[in-house]
Amino acid sequence: MTEATNVDPQELAKFGDLAHRWWDPESEFKPLHRINPLRLDWIDKHARLAGKRVVDIGCGGGILADSMARKGARVLGIDLAGKALKVALLHAMEAGTENVEYREVAAEALAAEQPGQYDVVTCMEMLEHVPDPSSIVRAAATLAKPGGWVFFSTLNRNPKSFLFAIVGAEYLLKMLPKGTHEYARFIRPSELARWCRDAGLDPADSRGMEYNPLTQRYWLSGDTSVNYLVACRKP
Ligand code: SAH
Repeated sequence: MTEATNVDPQELAKFGDLAHRWWDPESEFKPLHRINPLRLDWIDKHARLAGKRVVDIGCGGGILADSMARKGARVLGIDLAGKALKVALLHAMEAGTENVEYREVAAEALAAEQPGQYDVVTCMEMLEHVPDPSSIVRAAATLAKPGGWVFFSTLNRNPKSFLFAIVGAEYLLKMLPKGTHEYARFIRPSELARWCRDAGLDPADSRGMEYNPLTQRYWLSGDTSVNYLVACRKP
């Protein structure tokens, strides 16, 4: 699939329309703010970010990209929602974050332009918004250097994830706007692992992300039944 086709304009519009609230920690993006320290630590533990060249695919307003730059990585954030990228850049300027850049380019196009250039590739909470996620996985694999790391996170597809991620988060707790997620686009860990292997990546580790609505705490665990992260090595 090419850069022009592997995108759902309605999905980009959803994120673009809310972009001005991206850095408000109490906004629709609160869950991303809350989970960021957990995923950042996990990525850093595996890939040792300081000094590394990193590309963050589907970076949005830059919550993860900015934090990886603050750990000492040189980060390029890419997305196709132009408004989100403008917010990301503005934030970097206001916060004085060094070594972070943003570009409106499809993952597949960047992979054709800069194959094998990145020590670390991250792609979080994005695959479930794309028509052909396996094409993004292939692009991520192409962007990584041999010996590099590739990280994904997404939502599992089963009755529990439907209940927690859609009914719970969008309708009962109203943590996310209704229509944020579409169940049919959720991805089972086995599917993601197969796409990774088909792209030449070796899945090395995975963690589940759990949430307690009473305490409003998030933590990483072995339970990948709802939200989960995967770490891969490129041999
Ligand atoms: N990765 C960020 C943002 C997740 S929100 C984080 O975890 O903090 C999902 C992001 O995916 C949005 O910014 C949206 O614009 C982006 N996105 C959706 N479809 C895309 C596509 N085809 N190419 C690039 N980015 C896309």
